[in-house]
Amino acid sequence: MPETPREQLVLSLFKECDALLQGHFRLTSGKHSEWYFEKIRLIEKPASLEKIVDLLVEKIEAEVSEFDYVVSPAYGAIAIGFLAALKLGKKFAFSQRVDEKMSIRPGFSGLDGSRTVIVEDILTTGGSIQEVVACLKERHASIEGIYVLVDRTGGAVPIEGKPVGSLLALKVEAFESGACPFCKKGLPVTKPGASDKGAA
Ligand SMILES: [Zn+2]
Repeated sequence: MPETPREQLVLSLFKECDALLQGHFRLTSGKHSEWYFEKIRLIEKPASLEKIVDLLVEKIEAEVSEFDYVVSPAYGAIAIGFLAALKLGKKFAFSQRVDEKMSIRPGFSGLDGSRTVIVEDILTTGGSIQEVVACLKERHASIEGIYVLVDRTGGAVPIEGKPVGSLLALKVEAFESGACPFCKKGLPVTKPGASDKGAA
């Protein structure tokens, strides 16, 4: 779990949003975990999200000197990327799935050949980000940085050969019910509300 004061601050902000729940949860995989991300709650309370985005903006400003666009995949990350772009004084674009294929609307006319930073909410497998990278390459845009609020791989999944920048790198342990320490303690298990990708 988080160790630095900064990570502790990020963690407390996630809890403030109720986006990170601590308890005893049955995930959609059937495994049990102490932690559960309800990522849609990140955008439910804009004032709390803004505090988190401020920390992300600080990190991007310190690490990426020049770029033109923040690009985020639909839907949840749009609000996050847009707010970051506003604070960074950059342009914003988003990608979306059309017939399951990730694409960027041709209407984002300045994107061709530009320098971009990708912002996503939570990194679980990196699949969506890889697809955004592919879209940007089709537009001959360069990728100057890739950032997420939470890296659930704990830093284990580099994309395009680069580490993914995150505010919080959290490797969440999940247990088979027979080997779950919380079941052994007799704590009741709860199934969090129907969330699509949050429980992956
Ligand atoms: Zn359990």
